Amino acid sequence: MNTNFLQTPIDYLKGVGPNRADLLRKELGLHTYQDLINLFPNSYIDRTQYYKINQLQRNSSEVQIIGQIIDVHEVPQKRGKRLIARFQDDTGDMELVWFRGHKWIRESLKLDKEYVIFGKTNWFNGKYNMPHPEMELLEDYKKNLRSAMQPIYPSTEKLSNKGISNRVISKLMQQLFTETKGKFTETLSDNLISEFKLVSKSDALFNVHFPKNQELLSRAEYRLKFEELFYIQLQLIRKNLIHKSKIKGFPFTIVGDYFNTFFKTHLAFELTNAQKRVLKEIRNDLGSNAQMNRLLQGDVGSGKTIVALMSMLIALDNGYQACFMAPTEILSVQHYNVLLDICNKLKISIKLLTGSSKTLERRKIHEALENGGLQILIGTHALLEDKVKFKNLGLAIIDEQHRFGVAQRSKLWKKGSHLIPPKGRKNKSLTSKEIKGTPPHILVMTATPIPRTLAMSVYGDLDISIIDELPPGRKSIKTVHRFDKNRLKVFRFIRDEIAKGRQVYIVYPLIQESATMDYKDLMDGYESIVRYFPLPDYQISIVHGRMKPADKDYEMQRFIKGETQIMVATTVIEVGVDVPNASVMIIESAERFGLSQLHQLRGRVGRGAEQSYCILMTSYKLSNDSKTRLETMVRTNDGFEIAEVDLRLRGPGDIMGTQQSGVLNLKIADIIKDSDILQHARYYAKKILKSDPSLTSPANKVLLLTYKQITKYKNIWNYIS
Ligand code: ADP
Ligand code: MG
Repeated sequence: MNTNFLQTPIDYLKGVGPNRADLLRKELGLHTYQDLINLFPNSYIDRTQYYKINQLQRNSSEVQIIGQIIDVHEVPQKRGKRLIARFQDDTGDMELVWFRGHKWIRESLKLDKEYVIFGKTNWFNGKYNMPHPEMELLEDYKKNLRSAMQPIYPSTEKLSNKGISNRVISKLMQQLFTETKGKFTETLSDNLISEFKLVSKSDALFNVHFPKNQELLSRAEYRLKFEELFYIQLQLIRKNLIHKSKIKGFPFTIVGDYFNTFFKTHLAFELTNAQKRVLKEIRNDLGSNAQMNRLLQGDVGSGKTIVALMSMLIALDNGYQACFMAPTEILSVQHYNVLLDICNKLKISIKLLTGSSKTLERRKIHEALENGGLQILIGTHALLEDKVKFKNLGLAIIDEQHRFGVAQRSKLWKKGSHLIPPKGRKNKSLTSKEIKGTPPHILVMTATPIPRTLAMSVYGDLDISIIDELPPGRKSIKTVHRFDKNRLKVFRFIRDEIAKGRQVYIVYPLIQESATMDYKDLMDGYESIVRYFPLPDYQISIVHGRMKPADKDYEMQRFIKGETQIMVATTVIEVGVDVPNASVMIIESAERFGLSQLHQLRGRVGRGAEQSYCILMTSYKLSNDSKTRLETMVRTNDGFEIAEVDLRLRGPGDIMGTQQSGVLNLKIADIIKDSDILQHARYYAKKILKSDPSLTSPANKVLLLTYKQITKYKNIWNYIS
C-alpha cells in the first residue's frame, strides 16, 4: 500500500470517529494510518492454549477457557453491587465478576452461547473466579483475523476508562489490515534484505501484529528493529559526512619539532597501544581538510592528558595556538602544573586563566593571546569570556566534557580570530576572510564512558576515539562494601595505611551544594575523624563547595604535597585530581551516589604503584538499585561495564545527550537490548554511504525514497545537536 494512503488521518478508519480519533491522537500520538501501523505491541500473550476449569491452579497466571454462561445475577456489597455470571464447561463451573460498568455488560452477555474468556483467576469462597474477563463469542473469535499470540498494545488509563481497550485497538489494527489488504511498500533494498535474510515489510508488519507463533514473531521483530536502527544510523552518518565536507578545518600537515622533541626526549613512559591508536586517529583528522570534531573516551587514569598535550603540540608545530579547558579550578591548576614543566623544557609559552586570575594577569594574557605571544592557554570557563580572543586558535580541547553544555562547546568554535596566515602552511590559497571563519579543531574528552552502542546513536556528529587500556603496572583497586557500624574497623585500617605512608580520601555526598543537611553530615563526619586522628600526628585537609576557591586550592595543595594525610571532601574532587600517593578512597553514604560518580571517585586512587582500596560505606537500608550499584562496584573496575549497568538501571533518558538524539523515541528497537542489531545496522549504513554518499545508485533507490519520507515526516536533524 503506498505511503500516501498511509498518511490518511486516523479519523477516516472505520470504527474510529471523531471522539476516538481525538483520544488516539492525544493519548498515543496516533494521527495517521501509518502511526497506527507503527504502534507496536509491548508484549504478547500466548493464546495457543485452552484450559479446562478443572485444570485451574491456585497460582496460575492468565488463562483462556471455552464455556457458557448459565446465569447472571447481582450481589450487594459494601459499596454498590457486583455482577456475577456463572460460567461452565464440561469439567466444572466458576464465576465471572464485574465490579463496575454493570448495565452494558449485563445487557451484552448472552446465555447458553459458547464464549472464549481470558484473564487471571482467583480462588475465593471455595471457587475460582475471574474478574473483568476479556471475552468474546467463540464464533466471532474464530471469524476474526487474529493470531494465537495476542498482542498487548501500549495504552493509557484514560484510554481504557473511555473504553478503548486492547481489544478495540486490535480491532482497529485488523480493520487497517483489511483496508490495505496487508500490502505495504517495501522500505529496504533487495541487497539488505538478502544479505540479512530479512522478511519483507508486509510480512513483518503482519506478523508483528498478528503472529502465529514465536518464530514468525521474532523474524518480524528483527526486521523492523533493523529497519528502524538502520535509518537512524543512515541519518546520523550522513549528517557527519556532510559536516566533514562542508566545515573546513586547518590542515595541520606538519608533525614538527615540538612533537618530535617531546616524543623522543621528554616522554617518560611508553605510550599504551590504545594511546597510540587514538593519537593516530587525531593526527589523521588534523591532517585532513575538515574540522576535527572528536570525542575521546577513556576510563579514569587511562592517560588522556598526554594525548591532549601531544595533540596541542601538533597545533603548535603548525604555527597555531591551542587551549585546554577543564570544568574546575582544581583540575585546571593541576593540568597547568603538569604541562608547565614540559612546556618549559620545550620553550613553549603557557598560561593559566581561571576565575581567580588577577586583573593585571588577565590583561597580560588577553594581550599575549591576541598578538600570538602565548601558545597554550589552560583554564576554566573563564576561557569562554568574550575578552578572550586568540590570534589563531587551531585546537580547543575540553576535559570532562559532560560537565559543559553544548552551548559552551560551540562557543569555542568562534574563538579563533585569525588575522594572519599561519606559518608553515603549504596551502596558502585560503583567503584571510576564509581563515577567519574557520573554526578550531575540537577534541572533547570524558572519563564517563558512554556504552559504545549508545554513544554511536547519541553523538552522531562527533567521531569517537576510545582508550580502552590502562598504563601497565596498575594494580586493580580492591573495592569493598561496609556498613556504618563497622566504621571503627575502617578507621583502624586507615591508620595502618597512613602508617605505611599512604594518603586517604574520605568523601561525603553533597549532592546539592546548598543542601544544609548534607553539609551538616560532612562537618559531623569531619569532627569525628579529627577526634580519631588527632593533631599533631595527623594532618587533615577539608575541601567543600562553600569554601572560597583560594582556600580550596590551599587545602588541595597541602594534600598534593603530602603535608596532610587525609582529605575530607565533597564531590568537588570527583574530577581528575591526581595524587598518586593516595591509596584509600572512603565513600560515605555510598548508596546516595550514582554509579558513574562512584566510579569517578574510585578513580582518584590506584594511580601509584601501591595496592589501592575503595571502601563504600552505607547504612543497612538499601534499595534494590543501590544494592546493584554497590555490587557492581565491588565486582568490577571496568568503566564500560559499569556504564552498561548504569544504562540498564537508569535507562538512556538520564544519559547526557540522549534527549536530543531520538534514541528515546524508538518505536520497536531497544537501544540496550538490541545493541547487536544496532552495530550491524550502523556498519551497513556506513558501508552504503561510503560507496554511494547521496544514495543515487539504482540499487539504493528504495533507501533514498524511504529516507526522504522519514526526514519529511519526522526530521531528526532538527533535534540532533
Ligand atoms: P586520565 O585519563 O584520567 O585523565 P591522566 O592523563 O591523568 O588520566 O593519567 C593518569 C596517570 O597516568 C598520569 O600520572 C600519567 O602521567 C600516567 N600515564 C599516562 N599514560 C601513561 C603510560 N602510557 N604509561 C605510564 N603512565 C602513564
Ligand atoms: Mg584527566
